[in-house]
Amino acid sequence: MDEAAHTTCSHCGKQASNKCLGCNNHVYCGKECQKKDWPTHKMLCKDIRLDRAVFRIANLLQKMFLVFGRHSCETVYGSVEQNGNTIILNETYKARTRAGFFDSFPHCQMTEELEAIALCACSCDVSLWALHPFIANMLSVLGLKVEELNIRLSHCPRQVVINLTDGTSENNSLGRDHSVFLWTSRKRNRSWIIDLTGVQYGIDIYHRAEDYSKKFVKSIVHKKEFGRYKRYAEEVAKLCIYEGLYCKICLHLSEQIMQAVQAWTEMSAIPLSTLTHLDQDEFVTHRDALLTYIDTTLRNFMDKADYSAELAAVSAWENANPGLHELLTHQVRAKILGPG
Ligand SMILES: [Zn+2]
Ligand SMILES: [Zn+2]
Repeated sequence: MDEAAHTTCSHCGKQASNKCLGCNNHVYCGKECQKKDWPTHKMLCKDIRLDRAVFRIANLLQKMFLVFGRHSCETVYGSVEQNGNTIILNETYKARTRAGFFDSFPHCQMTEELEAIALCACSCDVSLWALHPFIANMLSVLGLKVEELNIRLSHCPRQVVINLTDGTSENNSLGRDHSVFLWTSRKRNRSWIIDLTGVQYGIDIYHRAEDYSKKFVKSIVHKKEFGRYKRYAEEVAKLCIYEGLYCKICLHLSEQIMQAVQAWTEMSAIPLSTLTHLDQDEFVTHRDALLTYIDTTLRNFMDKADYSAELAAVSAWENANPGLHELLTHQVRAKILGPG
């Protein structure tokens, strides 16, 4: 989002530095000019504010999803390679050091960007439900409608290949479905695509919906109301299979995030709704403090949690019923998300 600072009065064009308190973006040489400009600026002022709020929430969500990912990454990567526009993640066998099912991430040296790519690779479905309570909370304040979109990409600047220990490999190529959010403001007649896991494809998180469609969407597989993917995860979590245990623990982490957010808001006395219109520097400071608090909360939770008995139970069940887990998740998928 372009938020270049203005240096000249939006009405008369003279050098000026008094910021409009609404958008914190346009500047005026004095009260007179601001008053005269208001009829023209009013709508723009609202749009700037809304765009900034959406951009910041998206930015916070993306970073929050990475914190969540660090504590819920089920694949242990031994090494990462970069070959042009392709990132290769190599899974490794490594005994888990935590009884809590997920080892903390990363497992090998990697840059911050590669870390983000590794955490987002093939986990775009999860991004639609892992932060559900937080998104519901933030967006109700802005009066935005949220929808969950499953799409096929027409173009992706980057590719990720995951080499698994069983010799097979997975990748995020164009044929795969990708999941994103569609946020709409009916009042302001605009919508955005929030692509929380787009970094794996080299795609930014925040886009005006029409730009994203033009650049990246080949087709929409399905569009669901907000919360549908969470229902899917809750149903899978009831199954005594590996995927079920994965969803169950992720849902626990999701609750922990919400509790951490509440605790942090009370402790810092900063209501979340103010985060969207603070000065940029203040926003970054508070955002990072909140993220650190969530990270610590999740780490403490996972260090204490012990899912080893449940893990043993699902492993025993899957060994006794080979191949059946795929059928079960497929059934839940068909029931809740429909065909496709
Ligand atoms: Zn002026
Ligand atoms: Zn303004």
